Amino acid sequence: MEKLVFIPNPPLGELRVGIMGGTFDPIHYGHLVTAEAARWEYCLHKVVFVPSGRPPHKKDYPVTAPHHRYHMTLLATASNPYFEVSPMEIEREGYSYAIDTVLAFRRIYGPEAELFFITGADAILGILTWKDVDRLLQECRFIAATRPGYQLERLEKVLVQGRHRIHPIEVPALAISSTDIRWRVKNKKPIKYLLPEPVEDYIYREGLYRG
Ligand code: ATP
Ligand code: MG
Repeated sequence: MEKLVFIPNPPLGELRVGIMGGTFDPIHYGHLVTAEAARWEYCLHKVVFVPSGRPPHKKDYPVTAPHHRYHMTLLATASNPYFEVSPMEIEREGYSYAIDTVLAFRRIYGPEAELFFITGADAILGILTWKDVDRLLQECRFIAATRPGYQLERLEKVLVQGRHRIHPIEVPALAISSTDIRWRVKNKKPIKYLLPEPVEDYIYREGLYRG
């Protein structure tokens, strides 16, 4: 019989939790590579994926039903023991704001936990427009993954306060986006190798993105 290895919870104050927010419509290898790189670089004990309910910055175009995006996120993260998925944003009424999510994590993990909000460079560049950005920067650090076509140096100019709370990391450049995957499905182009196979199967089985 295989020996069970018991890994105790780290002592309070040393718990480092990554929060990977996104629409995940659908989730793809760009998201997964970024989350894993952040976990590794900052020795995170876990990364929790939080599919958004109603993203405030995507008001003007339709987003796939939350249960589909949640299910695809579960399928994509199942093989990584450090990854979890939280339905908190899709269960919350109204628009999804990062500050509400971070405060909810604070309540769950306590005052001593170190929270890291993981984003791509494109998302972090818009941070000044985020709700309660000062409080957000107090409550958590940001890990910003460089993504093809976005220069993080631009952030230096955009953001003076709180810059020391934003940590850039380099991830292998993956020019994959959910927008492109949706377009490909609609136009009957292949999506294989852009996202995990169980997610690909789910998209075809449920008839998503056919337009
Ligand atoms: P869409 O095209 O619909 O906007 P997306 O591919 O940008 O989708 P989101 O769900 O909007 O995916 O992104 C969630 C987070 O993942 C954001 O912080 C985004 O910057 C980051 N991200 C998305 N694609 C990549 C990628 N290829 N490499 C690194 N980070 C990424
Ligand atoms: Mg996006």
